[in-house]
Amino acid sequence: MTTVYHPDVHRTDRTPRSWWQASASVRPAPALAGDVEADVAIVGGGYAGLSAALHLARDHGIGAVVLDAGAIGWGASGRSGGFATYPAAKIGAGAMIRRWGEAETLAWYASQREGVDLVRALLAEEAIAADPQGDATFEVAHHPAYVEELREAAAFWRERLHQPASFLSREAFAEVGHGGTEQFGAMRIDGPFGLHPLKYVAGLREAAERHGARIHGDSRVVAWEKDGGRHRLVTTGGTVRARDVILATNGYTPDDLRAEFANRTLPALSNIVVTRPLTAEELAACGWRTECVLSNARDLLFYYRLLPDRRFLFGARGGTSGSPTEDMRMKSWLVRRLGEVFPAWRDVDVEYFWNGLVCLTGRLTPAIGRLPDDASVSYGFGWHGSGVAAATWAGRALADGVARGGTGPLAVPAPVAGLPPSLLHPLVRRFGLKAAYVWYGIRERIRER
Ligand SMILES: Cc1cc2nc3c(=O)[nH]c(=O)nc-3n(C[C@H](O)[C@H](O)[C@H](O)COP(=O)(O)OP(=O)(O)OC[C@H]3O[C@@H](n4cnc5c(N)ncnc54)[C@H](O)[C@@H]3O)c2cc1C
Repeated sequence: MTTVYHPDVHRTDRTPRSWWQASASVRPAPALAGDVEADVAIVGGGYAGLSAALHLARDHGIGAVVLDAGAIGWGASGRSGGFATYPAAKIGAGAMIRRWGEAETLAWYASQREGVDLVRALLAEEAIAADPQGDATFEVAHHPAYVEELREAAAFWRERLHQPASFLSREAFAEVGHGGTEQFGAMRIDGPFGLHPLKYVAGLREAAERHGARIHGDSRVVAWEKDGGRHRLVTTGGTVRARDVILATNGYTPDDLRAEFANRTLPALSNIVVTRPLTAEELAACGWRTECVLSNARDLLFYYRLLPDRRFLFGARGGTSGSPTEDMRMKSWLVRRLGEVFPAWRDVDVEYFWNGLVCLTGRLTPAIGRLPDDASVSYGFGWHGSGVAAATWAGRALADGVARGGTGPLAVPAPVAGLPPSLLHPLVRRFGLKAAYVWYGIRERIRER
């Protein structure tokens, strides 16, 4: 398999040493053994696959078998920052309106918000103890050059997208948010929150199983055939024959499993450092006052939050190989930047570093649908680094689509409907990503001069 990244990035026999792994665990799921029959087979045991399995079983009484190549949640879902937020796209709302029209854009933003509400509802309905925190997200102007843009964005979100957004000046945000060297005001969106992503995965898995789904880890699908109107998925330990298949492999989608999905995804590395617990004095030294999740306004943004035990999580996209050497460099860079943004924490011990793959698409929006020439194959991927809510929502939409049957396209908003364009060979994609990162850096320096 030609992949965009170093082979270590795909090693399912290793799990990164994350703070999440150190503070929670997912009960091991047995590998598939022997040949089984199911209504639906789901490839990928992250938020999307587990949400699809849970909704199929709970809301429609349909039995699904989930197969993951690694442990359940091994992919991005067990490694995320735990920001249940939106939007899950890299294209701005204005461009989205120009391309898909106002009604479809509004429908998509409404679905994104529904995703956040759905995650909250699942925590309550399925008694998932995933440490929810905060009631909003802030996009922080890290430089004065971004203040007007964010002020206008807040007005646009409120007036055109009907989303609960507001803008806080530097002084107003300092009262509820934080200080530091990169704080010049912020846009607030009410509703998003933080959670413990691995506890969320564990809870989704338990709920799906409780309602009747069968969950298997260490079960990589290595071949996918169709005969006699049924799919046959071959794993290392057995086979699943199923009427429908849902592909939920996001940034880990193999290019060689099924032709329709080859080269449709652009996986990108996202990296996180987590400090030791900070003292009340240390928090005060940076004017830290919030439990909410935050990011800044860069193209390659920093995302950050204070965790319930007062550890600080600081993350950013970046890196184009995922090799152990590059990981070391990425960790040092994040630690240095953390100290530059919050100088009082410059010498605080950083105890954890990890990374994983998020998924971009050539359309810069997610892809949710079923294949035009085989409606028994559904898929959901491309959350652009914001999959906690979007993938959970998509899992439910895919489950509803399978339950409804029929052959037409899925009823999802136009910006996310159907497959995105096919991209180039993995090595060319990697070069393209590198070029984009360099361009973002240049553009940022020009704007901030
Ligand atoms: C460091 C980091 C921080 C992030 N922070 C946030 C955040 O704060 N908020 C947010 O909303 N999003 C965040 N994201 C993105 C979010 O984690 C993802 O969008 C989301 O987890 C994707 O869920 P998924 O179920 O679609 O895919 P994944 O969780 O990636 O699951 C895909 C699974 O498919 C499996 N698979 C692949 N091929 C096969 C095969 N052939 N057979 C069987 N299984 C296979 C893989 O093993 C993998 O477990 C972050 C991601 C990373 C990496």
